[in-house]
Amino acid sequence: METLRFGSTGNNVTLLQLALARAGYYKFKIDGIFGTRTLNAVRRFQSSNGLAPDGIAGPNTWDKAEKYLYGFFTLRLRPGDTFFRLAKRYGTTADAIAAANPGMDPSNLPVGGEIIVPYGFPVTPTDVPWSSDLLEYVVRGLTVRYPFIQLETIGQTPLLKPIRVLRMGNGRREVFINAAHHANEWITSPLVTDYLESFASAYVNNRPFEGQSAASLFASVTLYVAPMVNPDGVDLVNGAVSREAENAARRIADDYPEISFPSGWKANIRGVDPNLSYPAGWDEAKAIKFEQGFTTPAPRDFVGDAPLAAPESRAVCDFTRTRDFAVTVSYHTQGEEIYYKYLDKVPEGAEELAKKMAEVSGYAAADVPFRSGFAGYKDWFIQDYDRPGFTVEAGRGVNPLPLSQYPRIREENFPLMTVALSDV
Ligand SMILES: [Zn+2]
Repeated sequence: METLRFGSTGNNVTLLQLALARAGYYKFKIDGIFGTRTLNAVRRFQSSNGLAPDGIAGPNTWDKAEKYLYGFFTLRLRPGDTFFRLAKRYGTTADAIAAANPGMDPSNLPVGGEIIVPYGFPVTPTDVPWSSDLLEYVVRGLTVRYPFIQLETIGQTPLLKPIRVLRMGNGRREVFINAAHHANEWITSPLVTDYLESFASAYVNNRPFEGQSAASLFASVTLYVAPMVNPDGVDLVNGAVSREAENAARRIADDYPEISFPSGWKANIRGVDPNLSYPAGWDEAKAIKFEQGFTTPAPRDFVGDAPLAAPESRAVCDFTRTRDFAVTVSYHTQGEEIYYKYLDKVPEGAEELAKKMAEVSGYAAADVPFRSGFAGYKDWFIQDYDRPGFTVEAGRGVNPLPLSQYPRIREENFPLMTVALSDV
């Protein structure tokens, strides 16, 4: 990890502030700027962790801080420790500790052995900008806290970032929810990850989830979540790529001066739109977008040189072919709409599901605007599988939507995703 000090800025400062906030030392806005407040927080954090309070976050400070990003730590068991006492001491639950240590007999804890203690807060942050680095902390934290969550890597981006899929549940009904095909729609990454984690947490704590038994949902569904299909793009929008990569993207954007940079960026880092890359009406998409002037790599709307030229789309496509999805949901922003058709094609059950989703979210089940109606993931899934595939345009406003919208988007879309999970 980068050594950070007074005056540092950027995504790593965001991560540091998040860790300090979770540890209880930073109570201000997480803004990625290492100013006086962050300096004071680092000093106090260092003092109480046995480090020299120099206010510089180097390797030793990071070493103590990272566990707050992972959302768990390991502890050596002492005589008298029980799940219940540990839970009380660290603000978590005995069920959460049991879930993170599936091989361990609570009535016979191995004194001197190591135990994983999940913190009481969720791993998934919903109040900070996301990046591929943050996602890596989150997926590691989730798979340790909830060992029944499996992590798969389905591909790699041009900047060599892994494209992640999280899987959970034992059911025959396979459901795929993906997010952040589009870079500046990254608020969908915390949304779908938060959903998975909330489901997992309800499951281990024997609580209902979205008005249902989490246990029976777990038994009937296998949920696959791809939180960030386009991590390079998300990193670009949130200032988490190298200067070299940012400059290369800026040169692409220079040809499209009407699109603000980097906030207007939707494409992958090479300027190919990953949701205009699927082999479903790709030639039509190309004709439409070329006519609109997107004839070269661009911040959005360039279809690439051939179908699946974006490695992100190729990965999602190949992954889909290895599974047997009953339903897919692709998250985008914004517009509060649910698209469920490809051309005139409406798979069996799709309209009913869309209506239910609309009912629980307050969104509108709508026809896709013709000029946006080709080469997206939903289009390809409906074309090739003839099963319900949805694009959900969450939230309202100008992308990237502000995090202040998150609570509302969550409230609208948790029930919507639960409709996708439930057999009808
Ligand atoms: Zn989009």
